[in-house]
Amino acid sequence: MLLTITTTHTPASDLSYLLHKHPAKAQQVELSGGIAHVFYTEVTEEKCTAALLLDIDPVGLVRKNSGPSGNDFALEQYVNDRPYVASSFMSAAIAKAFSTAMNGRCKDKPELVTVPMPFDITIAVLPVRGGEKVLQELFSPLGYTIDAERHALDPAFPSWGESRYFTVRLRNTITLQQLLSHLYILIPVCDNDKHYWVGQAEVEKLLEKGKDWLPAHPANEFITYRYLKNQKGLANQALEILMKDETIEPEETIEPVEPKIRVHDLRLQTVKDELLKTDAKRIADLGCGEGKLLRYLLPEKQFEYILGMDVSYRSIEIVKDKLKIDRMPPKQQERIQLIQGALTYRDKRLEGFDAAVLVEVIEHLDPPRLSALEKVVFQYAKPKTVIITTPNAEYNVKFANFEEGQMRHADHRFEWTRSEFATWGNKVAEENAYTVIYKPLGEEDPETGALSQMAIFTSNTGINAER
Ligand code: SAH
Repeated sequence: MLLTITTTHTPASDLSYLLHKHPAKAQQVELSGGIAHVFYTEVTEEKCTAALLLDIDPVGLVRKNSGPSGNDFALEQYVNDRPYVASSFMSAAIAKAFSTAMNGRCKDKPELVTVPMPFDITIAVLPVRGGEKVLQELFSPLGYTIDAERHALDPAFPSWGESRYFTVRLRNTITLQQLLSHLYILIPVCDNDKHYWVGQAEVEKLLEKGKDWLPAHPANEFITYRYLKNQKGLANQALEILMKDETIEPEETIEPVEPKIRVHDLRLQTVKDELLKTDAKRIADLGCGEGKLLRYLLPEKQFEYILGMDVSYRSIEIVKDKLKIDRMPPKQQERIQLIQGALTYRDKRLEGFDAAVLVEVIEHLDPPRLSALEKVVFQYAKPKTVIITTPNAEYNVKFANFEEGQMRHADHRFEWTRSEFATWGNKVAEENAYTVIYKPLGEEDPETGALSQMAIFTSNTGINAER
C-alpha cells in the first residue's frame, strides 16, 4: 500500500525538513501489524516526492488478534483486503512516521510549518464506501481537487457489482500539517472500518486532529460517525465538543443571582404568548436547554410541529427524559423533535419553520460567533418570526452583592444594555430584511428597565422559507 506526497514548493527539498526524514535514506517505522517504509522517489529543487509504503503482515495480524474472536467469518482473518489498501493502518503509519510534522514542529526550519505548499497526493488503493460522491463530499470542502479512478472488477463476474477501490489523486495548497491531519482522519472515513477497537481514545484523536477544520466541515457529522465506527454515544460526545464554541459545562455555571421569583417562567410565558399572537404553526426552539419552553408550547394546539435544538447532547437527553417523549402517544411524538446541533453552522434541519425562538441563548456565544448565528438564523433558516431574549445588563445593579461588570452566569460572554441590544437587533433586522420591536421581560423599573429584554423580528418579505 503506497501513499506519495509531492510538492513543487521551492525549494522542494523543504519537504524533507518538514517530514523530518532524510532524503537520502530509506527508513523503516515499526507498526503493530506491519512495517512502514519512508523514502523519496524524487528530490530536486523543483519537485520532491516522499513515499510511505505500508507493508502489512497478514499472518502477524491474525496472530495479534487471536483468541476468542466471535468473528462469524473465520476466513476473513486470512482473506481480506487489509494488507493491500489504505485504511486505518495508513493513518497509524502517518501518525507514527510523520509525528513531528503532524504536531506542527520542524526543528531546523520552524518557519516552514505555517507555509501553505502545493501538494499532489496519490493513494494507490483507497476503499471508498459510497464511491466518488463520498470522496467529493469529504475532500472538496477542504479545497482539494480530486481525481479518482475506480478499479475494474473482473468482467467475468458482473454480479460482483462496482469495485469500491479507487486510485485517488488529491491536489491542494495547504500546510503539511493540515494535509496530514486531513488524510489521517479521512482515509479511515472513506474505508469505513477500523482495524482496532474504537473507544474513548478515538474521540480524543478525532478532536485533536480535526479541531481546526472539522467543526466547519459540512460533512462533520458523517465524518464523526464513520470515524467512530458509527457508535452513537461516542459520536455525539465528539460532536458536542467539536461544535461548541467553547466547552459549556453546566457544572461550572454559578448559581443564578436572579431573584427567586419565577422570572424564567415569566419569560417563557411571555414568549409563548407572543408566539400565539402570530399564526406560527411550526416552531423551532433553538438552544432549548432542558426544554422548559417546550413544556409551555406542547399543550398549545396552534403549534403543529415543535423542534428543540441544543448543542449539548446531555441537555437533549434530559429533555427526552423529562418530557417522557417515548411514552407519548404516536401523534404527539410526531409533533415534537429533538436534535443536537450548533447554531453557528448552517443546518438544513432548521429550514421551513414559521417561528424560531432563542431564549437566553445569544449571550452564551462569543461575539465573533454571533455573526455566524445571525447567518444561520436570519439568512438560512429565515423563519417569518424570530424571538430573541437576553438579560438586560442595566438591571444588574439591583442585585445584592453584585460587583461591577459581574455577569449573571459564569458562562455568559456578554450582557447587553437595552441600547446595546437594540443596536445589534436593528443591524440584524436591516441586513436581513426584518422589522424588529423590543419588549421588556419582567416588571419595568423606570431607571434600569426590566430584568430581561426581548426582540421580536418579523420578516419583511412576509413569506416563510420555502417549504
Ligand atoms: N433556552 C433555554 C436554555 C438557555 S441556556 C432556557 O431558556 O431554559 C443556553 C443554552 O444554549 C444552553 O442549553 C446551551 O447548551 C445552548 N447553546 C449555547 N451555544 C449554543 C450553540 N452555538 N448552538 C446551540 N445551542 C447553544
